[in-house]
Amino acid sequence: MCGIFGIYGHSEAANITYLGLHALQHRGQESAGIVSSDGKFLHSEIDMGLVADIFSQDRLDKLSGYIAIGHNRYSTTGASLLKNAQPILVDYSRGSLALAHNGNLVNAAYIRSELEAYGSIFRSTMDTEVIVHLIAQSKEDKLLDRVIDAVSRIKGAYSLIIMTENELVGVRDPNGFRPLSLGKLKDSYVLASETCAFDLIEAKYERDIEPGEIVVIDSKGIQSYKPFPASSRSHCVFEFIYFARPDSNIFGENVNFIRQELGRQLARETMVDADIVIPVPDSGVPAALGFSLESKVPFDMGLIRSHYVGRTFIEPQQAIRHFGVKLKLNPVKKIIEGKRVIVIDDSIVRGTTSRKIIKMLRDAGAREVHVRISSPPTTHPCFYGIDTPDRKELIAATHTIEEVRRYLTADSLSYLSLEGMLNIFKERKNDFCMSCFDGVYPVSFEGMDTSQLELF
Ligand code: AMP
Repeated sequence: MCGIFGIYGHSEAANITYLGLHALQHRGQESAGIVSSDGKFLHSEIDMGLVADIFSQDRLDKLSGYIAIGHNRYSTTGASLLKNAQPILVDYSRGSLALAHNGNLVNAAYIRSELEAYGSIFRSTMDTEVIVHLIAQSKEDKLLDRVIDAVSRIKGAYSLIIMTENELVGVRDPNGFRPLSLGKLKDSYVLASETCAFDLIEAKYERDIEPGEIVVIDSKGIQSYKPFPASSRSHCVFEFIYFARPDSNIFGENVNFIRQELGRQLARETMVDADIVIPVPDSGVPAALGFSLESKVPFDMGLIRSHYVGRTFIEPQQAIRHFGVKLKLNPVKKIIEGKRVIVIDDSIVRGTTSRKIIKMLRDAGAREVHVRISSPPTTHPCFYGIDTPDRKELIAATHTIEEVRRYLTADSLSYLSLEGMLNIFKERKNDFCMSCFDGVYPVSFEGMDTSQLELF
């Protein structure tokens, strides 16, 4: 996952991009970068860490110009290194180009080896770098045609924001895996992964960039192109379940509303006698509220989250992640003691977080702990940009629900059904990618290492 942002035609383009990235911080905490253009040159500031730590006023002042793009990275392909941070900025025969990518390409290794065979030299291990090479090598003249040329070669999930000295381009893959929205801030155009970025900068949401659409923004205004044949939609359902911010609207729906509906449906399917419903904050909160409203079991904040630690899952080392749960969450004994507790989380990946939470709740005096998960069992890795571990590490891929329950030491464990999840989207229920739950991958992998799918 990653957060991307872009603005065209604003005297404080870099400052606005800083704010946009700040609002999108939840989409990636590993590195952040901004590239701006003053019409002649591109300026870049990129570093490891959080947006607010990286960008001092000094650094922002170096980013002069009226166009800017930004990126928050959360690594899915490529190691956690500065050379893999984005936006990628290159100089080539036509000038300069910068690109920010959210998603994951499934044929990048194949294209990369092809390009390398013809002498291309890569400076990172990111799939995104192949897009820059393809744009630079295109024989077409106009930027739009070069982008079309490049994009027609790549496969997978990609929402892209590209800039040159005087243009800003937004691209969304034909399946629409990742979100990308268009807004206006007075006369300036803005692009962002999620609409919560528009709220902060007081931009007006205009519309989503459509799957397969390319928009080019320059001094003449905005032009939309649809150079690719229509494909079926594969919006990532996990954006709703976990990734996006509840105050955002993505894929035409409010994230908080959908999470509450998931919680209501979970209650309809898996209700159990209990005294209290508590969420695993923050991602479990809307679903727990929905569960409580539907079941009439009172809601309370029985677990308190420290907001001064990042998402522990993202820490690359197992040792840190284990410690991380305690760093992040602490039970409120007064709320938990003597109670039969329903604890709601959005997903179980490896099971380590839930197991620790249950121990915490029991230590705090819970009489019973019933775990309810507002998504189906995560049984397959994602190849389209969510950082899931290999299949063999996904506890629901290798264990029955009863075995998972025993591992977690829960009194009961239930997940939301696949059908129950989809019914929330009504007539749009076929518009989603759910490969993490059903193993159906809507865009096939060509020459890709699929060892992640192996169970042993
Ligand atoms: P685990 O301990 O591996 O079972 O992690 C489960 C926790 O990680 C849940 O609380 C989820 O909210 C969270 N989570 C699920 N998927 C992801 C992801 N792709 N990136 C970061 N956190 C995640």
